[in-house]
Formats: sequence, structure tokens, C-alpha cells
Amino acid sequence: MRQQGRPAHELPSFARYLNKVFDFRTAAARLADARRDPDLSPSAVFLATFHGFVFRLPSFQQLAGELAQPALQCWIGAGRAFSDDVLRYSLSGFQVEGLEQLLIDVNRTLKRNKVFDADRVQGRIVAALDGVETLASYSRCCDACLERRVWVRKGGVKVEQVQYYHRAVGCQIVTGPVKTFVALEWLKPGEGEDTAALRLLSKIPAQYGSRFFDILLLDALYAQAPVFRLAAELGWDLVVSLKQNHRELYQSAIRLFARRPADASAVETRAGKSYQIQVWDTEGLPFCADYSQPVRVVRSEETLTQNHYRQGKLEPENTEHEWVWVTTLDRQTFPTMLVRRLGHDRWKLENNGWNDLTQNWGLKHGFLHACRHRPHQEVDGVRAPVPNRGLPAVVLILLLAFTLTAAFVHCHSKLFRLCPSSVIEVAQQLRRSVSNLPLHIRAPDSPAESSI
Ligand SMILES: [Zn+2]
Repeated sequence: MRQQGRPAHELPSFARYLNKVFDFRTAAARLADARRDPDLSPSAVFLATFHGFVFRLPSFQQLAGELAQPALQCWIGAGRAFSDDVLRYSLSGFQVEGLEQLLIDVNRTLKRNKVFDADRVQGRIVAALDGVETLASYSRCCDACLERRVWVRKGGVKVEQVQYYHRAVGCQIVTGPVKTFVALEWLKPGEGEDTAALRLLSKIPAQYGSRFFDILLLDALYAQAPVFRLAAELGWDLVVSLKQNHRELYQSAIRLFARRPADASAVETRAGKSYQIQVWDTEGLPFCADYSQPVRVVRSEETLTQNHYRQGKLEPENTEHEWVWVTTLDRQTFPTMLVRRLGHDRWKLENNGWNDLTQNWGLKHGFLHACRHRPHQEVDGVRAPVPNRGLPAVVLILLLAFTLTAAFVHCHSKLFRLCPSSVIEVAQQLRRSVSNLPLHIRAPDSPAESSI
């Protein structure tokens, strides 16, 4: 398809790549939901939702509108249009384990194809762990909602109200062009983010083997003895940002560094900003009473100089920043400045990870978290709706769309290399190409359609 004379990405090429590299069609056909003898297969519902995310559609209503196109119905194996109610009914009882396995298989294929090798750090693959809140509501809630009391202003008066929300922890690969999520864990009511993080990290070896990645970047929140013990057991190295919540370690490092000059210094200039950097590095500090192994601490003092206009004159303005990291990396292989770079990578990731998913992929739509219209099942002679799995199911489909689109663009598309465009533009090209699909093309998950 050509738009204004420029070559553009097309859906058949995307599908060919997915089927050839990930056997996507066969994997989609194995998915299941809780409906009984539905005329629309779980695979068709999955592919509809998956393509909705690939096309960056902002809502299920808009996806239902898009499904009015016979070519798209045919493509996903539906054979007819269907409403967003059908999507919700199927997805609220979707088998999450099948989607999780699909994400694991995709990630294992990416690693086998050396996609994470591009920016290995001293030969190591790096991952990062972070949390995100996907929705918050004062009125709609479900059995899995977390609750907090917040103060809100109503008619000029401050009142305390219960707010419902969902939060998850995700582990994402940082090295290479495809920043895929390895695993996702939802916080259960009443538990902290550190508990969910530990549960997530503990399940990775069974899903991927312990050496799927080598270095894990973590926020201060996760700087806890059980995380260090698990990492030591599995052979992962850690780079953890350190804040005042580890008061003793933080203060003993600061006291030690105050007595001596910096171990390394540098000046960096990028995007009109200049950074003067001084870094201190020490090994052998005790982490905490619960974890006796000594750790290495790196502290970076950074003066950022930016020019600002003041009364019509361009004047430099300085701001001071401090960063402290704890790491298990050895000093010989990972010199001071490299630890600093890894520490900063976690912050860079915020633009490639959750922020991207929130701003450009519609992560915060509160998909189906309080969906009451669900398939029923009989438990001990009582018929009741199945547990609501809508939110985890939809977020996993979103993560699959996020990863597979990035893989298509960065690892396959010659067009993207020849005429670089934004990834959002690629999504729009794929969406527009639906109108070019010949009607005789069968669903991409159909075993009979082996030529797609
Ligand atoms: Zn909820």
C-alpha cells in the first residue's frame, strides 16, 4: 500500500513475520476462555483485541467499529461483525495462563534469535523491575481491587474517600531494541509492592531458566534482604538505587565519601545540557543486619547546567543532583562509570516502558476490571460468574502487541531502516492496510491458510 507515494507497512507482511518466527497462528488457536460452545472462537477474540492494540485504537468501542470491515473479520477468523460486549464477555473469563505462556514463548524466541544481544553490557543482558498503577476509581471496584483512603475536595470541603486501584510489577529487558516484558505480577489486596516483586522474581527461573538475563536494575523500594538473597541464589547481579530508606548504609557511604576526593569524574553534554559528574565508589559495606554479604556503593554528584532566558538574556542555571546505587557487580569488570550508566538506565527505561505503554498504548483504560457480565460456572452445585480475569488478560494481550510490533519494526522491517518513521506511524499504516486486504484471505490462525 502506498500513502502519498511512500511505501508503507502492510498487515500481510506483519502476519507472515509473526507466523514464521513465532508460530503465532498456531499459538493463538490454543487459547481458551470460559464460554461454552461459542460461535466466535477465543482465538478470534484474542486476535481482534491484539490487532486493536497493534493499531493503537483507544477503546473497545472503536475496535468494535473497526470490526465492521469484512476484511478484518475474515483476517481474525470471526466471519462476522461483533460488539464490544462479546469482547468483554469472552475476555473477562479468558485463560490467563495461555496468554502468559504465549508471552514466555515469544520472549524465548527473541532471546534465541539474539535480539537482546545488541547492547549487552560487558557481555551481560540487563533487565529492570518497576511498578505501575493501571487504574484508579472512586465508584467501580472488583474483588481484586486494592483500596486506599484519600482526601478529596467536595463542594469546597475536604472529605476522606475510599479509592480503588490496581497496581502491577513488571520485569522488562533493557538491552536490545525490543524492550519486552518478561513477566508481570499484580499486587493482591493488602500486600506491598515488594511482596509482589519477590513473587515475580521467584517464578522467572521456572518460566525461563535462571540465566535469561544477568543483571537486574531495581528501585530503592526493592532494596531488601530477600531480593539480594534470591539474586545471589539465581546468579543475578543487582544495581539498586539507594535512598534514605536504607539510612545506615546510606549514611556510612556518605561519611566515607566525604573524607576523600572522587574516584572518577567526567563532563557530559547532550541535548543542550551539560553535566559535571563526580563519582565515588567503595566495596565492602554491610548491607543490613538481615543480609551479611558486603556490598559495593557508588555515589554520583552531578551538576546540571542549562541555559535559560531571564529578562531577555540567556543565562546558565545550575542544579545539583545526587544518585546513590548499591551493586553486586565487581569493580574490575564494571568500573565506576559503567555502574553509574546502568543506574541511570532504569530512569531512561521509564520512557520506553510503563510511560510508553501508558501514553501511547492505552494501558490506563481500566479494561474490564469491574465487568459483571461474565460466563458462569458451577462450583459445589452453585452457579456463579467465573472470577474476573479481564484486566490481567487484556494487559497481557497489550504487552504481546507492544513486544511483537517492536520486534517487527526493529528486527524485520527493511522499510523502517530505509525510511525511518515513528512506530506510531507504522501502527497507522498497518491499520490503513486493512482496507487493502483481499476478502478471500482466511483468518491468520486458520490451519488451512498456510500461505499467509
Ligand atoms: Zn478492580
